[in-house]
Amino acid sequence: MGRIYTIANQKGGVGKTTTAINLGAYLAYYGQRVLLVDLDPQANATSCLKIDKRTVKGGVYDVLIGAAPAASLIMHNPRLKLSLLPSSPALAGAEVELVNELARETRLKRGLEPVFERYDYVLIDCPPSLGLLTLNGLVAARDGVLIPVQCEYLALEGLGQLTYTLDRIRQAIFPELTVRGVVLTMFDGRTNLANDVVQEVRRYFGDKVFRAIVPRSVRLAEAPSFGQPISMYAPASGGAHAYAALAQEVLAGDGIHLPALEKLS
Ligand code: ATP
Ligand code: MG
Repeated sequence: MGRIYTIANQKGGVGKTTTAINLGAYLAYYGQRVLLVDLDPQANATSCLKIDKRTVKGGVYDVLIGAAPAASLIMHNPRLKLSLLPSSPALAGAEVELVNELARETRLKRGLEPVFERYDYVLIDCPPSLGLLTLNGLVAARDGVLIPVQCEYLALEGLGQLTYTLDRIRQAIFPELTVRGVVLTMFDGRTNLANDVVQEVRRYFGDKVFRAIVPRSVRLAEAPSFGQPISMYAPASGGAHAYAALAQEVLAGDGIHLPALEKLS
Protein backbone atom coordinates (compact mmCIF):
# COMPACT_ATOMS: atom_id res chain seq x y z
CA MET A 1 0.00 0.00 0.00
CA GLY A 2 1.42 3.37 -1.01
CA ARG A 3 1.74 6.42 1.16
CA ILE A 4 0.47 9.94 0.77
CA TYR A 5 2.39 12.74 2.44
CA THR A 6 1.57 16.43 2.19
CA ILE A 7 4.32 19.01 2.49
CA ALA A 8 2.91 22.07 4.18
CA ASN A 9 3.90 25.23 6.01
CA GLN A 10 2.00 28.41 5.33
CA LYS A 11 5.19 30.41 5.68
CA GLY A 12 6.67 31.14 2.26
CA GLY A 13 10.11 30.10 1.07
CA VAL A 14 10.90 27.55 3.78
CA GLY A 15 11.82 24.73 1.39
CA LYS A 16 8.50 22.97 0.73
CA THR A 17 9.01 22.64 -3.01
CA THR A 18 12.72 21.89 -2.72
CA THR A 19 11.85 19.11 -0.28
CA ALA A 20 9.04 17.75 -2.46
CA ILE A 21 11.29 17.56 -5.53
CA ASN A 22 14.42 16.22 -3.89
CA LEU A 23 12.82 13.84 -1.43
CA GLY A 24 10.71 12.62 -4.34
CA ALA A 25 13.77 12.22 -6.55
CA TYR A 26 15.62 10.18 -3.93
CA LEU A 27 12.62 7.99 -3.17
CA ALA A 28 12.46 7.29 -6.91
CA TYR A 29 16.20 6.65 -6.97
CA TYR A 30 15.65 4.05 -4.25
CA GLY A 31 13.18 2.27 -6.49
CA GLN A 32 9.91 3.76 -5.31
CA ARG A 33 7.16 4.81 -7.71
CA VAL A 34 6.64 8.47 -6.90
CA LEU A 35 3.92 10.95 -7.85
CA LEU A 36 4.42 14.63 -7.09
CA VAL A 37 1.29 16.74 -6.91
CA ASP A 38 1.88 20.45 -7.49
CA LEU A 39 -0.90 22.09 -5.52
CA ASP A 40 0.62 25.57 -5.75
CA PRO A 41 -0.57 28.13 -8.33
CA GLN A 42 3.05 29.40 -8.40
CA ALA A 43 3.79 26.07 -10.16
CA ASN A 44 7.35 25.93 -8.84
CA ALA A 45 7.49 22.15 -8.70
CA THR A 46 6.14 21.98 -12.25
CA SER A 47 8.83 24.44 -13.42
CA CYS A 48 11.59 22.70 -11.44
CA LEU A 49 10.95 19.56 -13.45
CA LYS A 50 11.38 21.55 -16.65
CA ILE A 51 7.78 21.22 -17.61
CA ASP A 52 6.76 24.28 -19.55
CA LYS A 53 3.75 25.73 -17.78
CA ARG A 54 2.32 26.83 -21.13
CA THR A 55 2.33 23.26 -22.46
CA VAL A 56 0.38 21.96 -19.48
CA LYS A 57 -3.12 21.34 -20.79
CA GLY A 58 -4.59 20.65 -17.43
CA GLY A 59 -3.57 19.71 -13.98
CA VAL A 60 -4.60 19.46 -10.41
CA TYR A 61 -7.17 22.22 -10.98
CA ASP A 62 -9.14 19.98 -13.32
CA VAL A 63 -9.11 17.25 -10.70
CA LEU A 64 -10.38 19.66 -8.02
CA ILE A 65 -13.30 20.85 -10.11
CA GLY A 66 -14.06 17.33 -11.32
CA ALA A 67 -13.42 18.18 -14.99
CA ALA A 68 -10.94 15.37 -15.67
CA PRO A 69 -9.61 12.27 -13.96
CA ALA A 70 -6.13 12.56 -12.44
CA ALA A 71 -4.91 9.65 -14.58
CA SER A 72 -5.39 11.65 -17.78
CA LEU A 73 -3.30 14.58 -16.52
CA ILE A 74 -0.29 12.94 -14.92
CA MET A 75 2.97 13.48 -16.77
CA HIS A 76 5.82 11.04 -16.41
CA ASN A 77 9.49 11.98 -16.54
CA PRO A 78 11.26 8.72 -17.45
CA ARG A 79 14.73 10.19 -16.90
CA LEU A 80 13.91 11.02 -13.30
CA LYS A 81 11.45 8.15 -12.87
CA LEU A 82 9.06 10.72 -11.39
CA SER A 83 5.45 11.38 -12.21
CA LEU A 84 3.85 14.79 -11.80
CA LEU A 85 0.31 16.02 -11.53
CA PRO A 86 1.12 19.57 -12.61
CA SER A 87 -0.14 22.92 -11.53
CA SER A 88 -1.62 25.21 -14.18
CA PRO A 89 -2.50 28.90 -14.25
CA ALA A 90 -6.17 28.12 -13.63
CA LEU A 91 -5.29 26.86 -10.16
CA ALA A 92 -4.99 30.47 -8.99
CA GLY A 93 -8.77 30.81 -9.24
CA ALA A 94 -9.57 27.54 -7.53
CA GLU A 95 -9.77 28.96 -4.00
CA VAL A 96 -12.56 31.28 -5.07
CA GLU A 97 -14.31 28.95 -7.48
CA LEU A 98 -14.55 26.07 -5.04
CA VAL A 99 -16.00 28.10 -2.22
CA ASN A 100 -19.59 27.21 -3.01
CA GLU A 101 -18.93 23.61 -4.03
CA LEU A 102 -19.99 20.71 -1.87
CA ALA A 103 -17.32 18.74 -0.04
CA ARG A 104 -14.81 21.25 -1.21
CA GLU A 105 -12.03 20.16 1.18
CA THR A 106 -12.08 16.52 0.12
CA ARG A 107 -11.83 17.00 -3.63
CA LEU A 108 -8.14 16.29 -3.99
CA LYS A 109 -8.36 13.25 -1.73
CA ARG A 110 -11.18 11.80 -3.80
CA GLY A 111 -9.55 12.79 -7.09
CA LEU A 112 -6.36 10.93 -6.17
CA GLU A 113 -8.11 7.75 -5.05
CA PRO A 114 -8.26 6.16 -8.53
CA VAL A 115 -4.51 6.59 -9.17
CA PHE A 116 -3.06 6.19 -5.76
CA GLU A 117 -2.58 2.40 -6.05
CA ARG A 118 -0.08 2.94 -8.85
CA TYR A 119 2.41 4.68 -6.59
CA ASP A 120 4.49 3.88 -3.56
CA TYR A 121 4.65 7.55 -2.60
CA VAL A 122 2.45 10.51 -3.38
CA LEU A 123 3.98 13.83 -2.27
CA ILE A 124 1.74 16.89 -2.32
CA ASP A 125 3.45 20.30 -2.49
CA CYS A 126 1.26 23.00 -0.91
CA PRO A 127 1.23 26.75 -1.49
CA PRO A 128 2.27 29.16 1.28
CA SER A 129 -1.18 29.72 2.77
CA LEU A 130 -3.76 27.91 4.84
CA GLY A 131 -6.49 28.42 2.25
CA LEU A 132 -8.67 25.89 0.51
CA LEU A 133 -5.85 24.44 -1.59
CA THR A 134 -3.74 23.64 1.46
CA LEU A 135 -6.83 22.29 3.23
CA ASN A 136 -7.35 19.92 0.30
CA GLY A 137 -3.71 18.91 0.60
CA LEU A 138 -3.98 18.28 4.34
CA VAL A 139 -7.21 16.29 4.06
CA ALA A 140 -5.50 14.14 1.41
CA ALA A 141 -2.46 13.55 3.67
CA ARG A 142 -3.44 10.00 4.46
CA ASP A 143 -0.11 9.12 6.04
CA GLY A 144 0.80 12.47 7.51
CA VAL A 145 2.15 15.94 6.99
CA LEU A 146 5.77 16.83 6.38
CA ILE A 147 6.59 20.28 7.72
CA PRO A 148 9.74 21.96 6.45
CA VAL A 149 11.09 24.50 8.94
CA GLN A 150 13.77 26.96 7.94
CA CYS A 151 16.62 27.26 10.46
CA GLU A 152 16.22 31.02 10.75
CA TYR A 153 14.99 33.60 13.21
CA LEU A 154 11.24 33.16 13.90
CA ALA A 155 11.34 29.60 12.57
CA LEU A 156 8.53 28.50 14.86
CA GLU A 157 6.39 31.51 14.21
CA GLY A 158 3.20 30.49 12.47
CA LEU A 159 3.53 26.83 13.38
CA GLY A 160 0.94 27.32 16.12
CA GLN A 161 -1.48 28.35 13.41
CA LEU A 162 -0.62 25.28 11.34
CA THR A 163 -1.07 23.05 14.40
CA TYR A 164 -4.43 24.70 15.06
CA THR A 165 -5.50 24.05 11.46
CA LEU A 166 -4.48 20.39 11.80
CA ASP A 167 -6.57 20.16 14.99
CA ARG A 168 -9.59 21.64 13.25
CA ILE A 169 -9.28 19.16 10.39
CA ARG A 170 -8.99 16.32 12.92
CA GLN A 171 -12.17 17.44 14.64
CA ALA A 172 -14.20 18.09 11.51
CA ILE A 173 -13.11 15.63 8.84
CA PHE A 174 -10.10 13.46 9.39
CA PRO A 175 -9.36 12.34 12.98
CA GLU A 176 -6.27 10.32 11.99
CA LEU A 177 -4.37 13.25 10.51
CA THR A 178 -0.81 13.16 11.85
CA VAL A 179 2.44 15.05 11.53
CA ARG A 180 4.80 12.59 9.86
CA GLY A 181 7.83 14.72 10.52
CA VAL A 182 9.54 18.07 10.59
CA VAL A 183 12.34 18.71 8.10
CA LEU A 184 14.94 21.28 9.14
CA THR A 185 16.04 23.23 6.07
CA MET A 186 18.61 25.87 5.05
CA PHE A 187 20.80 25.14 8.04
CA ASP A 188 23.93 27.24 8.25
CA GLY A 189 26.19 25.58 10.81
CA ARG A 190 28.44 28.63 11.05
CA THR A 191 25.81 30.58 12.94
CA ASN A 192 24.80 30.14 16.56
CA LEU A 193 21.31 31.10 15.54
CA ALA A 194 20.87 28.07 13.28
CA ASN A 195 22.03 25.75 16.06
CA ASP A 196 19.67 27.44 18.52
CA VAL A 197 16.78 27.02 16.10
CA VAL A 198 17.52 23.30 15.75
CA GLN A 199 17.37 22.94 19.55
CA GLU A 200 14.19 24.96 19.77
CA VAL A 201 12.41 22.99 17.03
CA ARG A 202 13.53 19.72 18.67
CA ARG A 203 12.15 20.90 22.01
CA TYR A 204 8.84 21.76 20.38
CA PHE A 205 8.40 18.73 18.10
CA GLY A 206 10.52 16.12 19.92
CA ASP A 207 11.18 12.95 17.97
CA LYS A 208 9.02 14.14 15.09
CA VAL A 209 12.04 16.04 13.80
CA PHE A 210 14.01 14.11 11.19
CA ARG A 211 17.66 13.54 12.01
CA ALA A 212 18.70 14.57 8.50
CA ILE A 213 19.20 18.33 8.39
CA VAL A 214 19.25 20.08 5.02
CA PRO A 215 22.13 22.58 4.82
CA ARG A 216 21.91 25.92 3.11
CA SER A 217 23.42 25.07 -0.25
CA VAL A 218 23.85 27.08 -3.41
CA ARG A 219 23.63 23.82 -5.35
CA LEU A 220 20.12 23.19 -4.07
CA ALA A 221 19.07 26.66 -5.17
CA GLU A 222 20.69 26.27 -8.60
CA ALA A 223 19.37 22.83 -9.50
CA PRO A 224 15.81 23.91 -10.45
CA SER A 225 17.05 26.24 -13.18
CA PHE A 226 18.57 23.16 -14.83
CA GLY A 227 15.34 21.24 -14.45
CA GLN A 228 17.12 18.73 -12.27
CA PRO A 229 16.77 17.43 -8.75
CA ILE A 230 19.91 17.59 -6.64
CA SER A 231 20.45 13.83 -7.08
CA MET A 232 21.23 14.58 -10.72
CA TYR A 233 22.62 18.11 -10.61
CA ALA A 234 25.16 17.72 -7.79
CA PRO A 235 24.95 14.24 -6.28
CA ALA A 236 28.12 14.72 -4.22
CA SER A 237 26.95 17.95 -2.58
CA GLY A 238 25.92 18.36 1.04
CA GLY A 239 22.36 19.09 -0.02
CA ALA A 240 22.22 15.85 -1.99
CA HIS A 241 23.53 13.84 0.97
CA ALA A 242 20.92 15.45 3.22
CA TYR A 243 18.00 14.65 0.95
CA ALA A 244 19.30 11.11 0.39
CA ALA A 245 19.50 10.69 4.17
CA LEU A 246 16.00 12.11 4.56
CA ALA A 247 14.64 9.66 1.98
CA GLN A 248 16.36 6.79 3.79
CA GLU A 249 14.86 7.93 7.10
CA VAL A 250 11.39 8.13 5.55
CA LEU A 251 11.76 4.67 4.01
CA ALA A 252 13.06 3.15 7.24
CA GLY A 253 10.25 4.80 9.23
CA ASP A 254 7.75 3.34 6.78
CA GLY A 255 9.23 -0.11 7.27
CA ILE A 256 10.73 -0.26 3.79
CA HIS A 257 14.17 -1.77 4.06
CA LEU A 258 15.94 -1.95 0.75
CA PRO A 259 18.75 -4.47 0.74
CA ALA A 260 20.67 -2.46 -1.84
CA LEU A 261 20.30 0.83 0.00
CA GLU A 262 23.90 1.13 1.18
CA LYS A 263 25.25 0.26 -2.23
CA LEU A 264 23.11 2.84 -3.92
CA SER A 265 23.95 5.77 -1.67
P1 ATP B 1 6.84 28.86 -1.37
O1 ATP B 1 6.26 29.06 -0.02
O2 ATP B 1 6.97 30.13 -2.16
O3 ATP B 1 6.17 27.76 -2.13
P2 ATP B 1 8.81 26.95 -0.60
O4 ATP B 1 8.48 26.77 0.85
O5 ATP B 1 8.30 25.93 -1.54
O6 ATP B 1 8.35 28.39 -1.10
P3 ATP B 1 11.33 26.67 -1.89
O7 ATP B 1 10.78 27.18 -3.17
O8 ATP B 1 11.64 25.22 -1.82
O9 ATP B 1 10.38 27.07 -0.68
O10 ATP B 1 12.63 27.46 -1.48
C1 ATP B 1 12.65 28.88 -1.47
C2 ATP B 1 13.93 29.36 -2.14
O11 ATP B 1 15.04 28.92 -1.39
C3 ATP B 1 14.13 28.80 -3.54
O12 ATP B 1 14.76 29.75 -4.33
C4 ATP B 1 15.02 27.59 -3.32
O13 ATP B 1 15.81 27.30 -4.45
C5 ATP B 1 15.88 28.06 -2.15
N1 ATP B 1 16.27 26.95 -1.29
C6 ATP B 1 15.48 25.97 -0.79
N2 ATP B 1 16.17 25.15 0.01
C7 ATP B 1 17.44 25.63 0.04
C8 ATP B 1 18.64 25.24 0.70
N3 ATP B 1 18.67 24.19 1.50
N4 ATP B 1 19.75 25.99 0.49
C9 ATP B 1 19.72 27.08 -0.31
N5 ATP B 1 18.64 27.48 -0.97
C10 ATP B 1 17.49 26.79 -0.79
MG1 MG C 1 6.83 26.09 -3.02
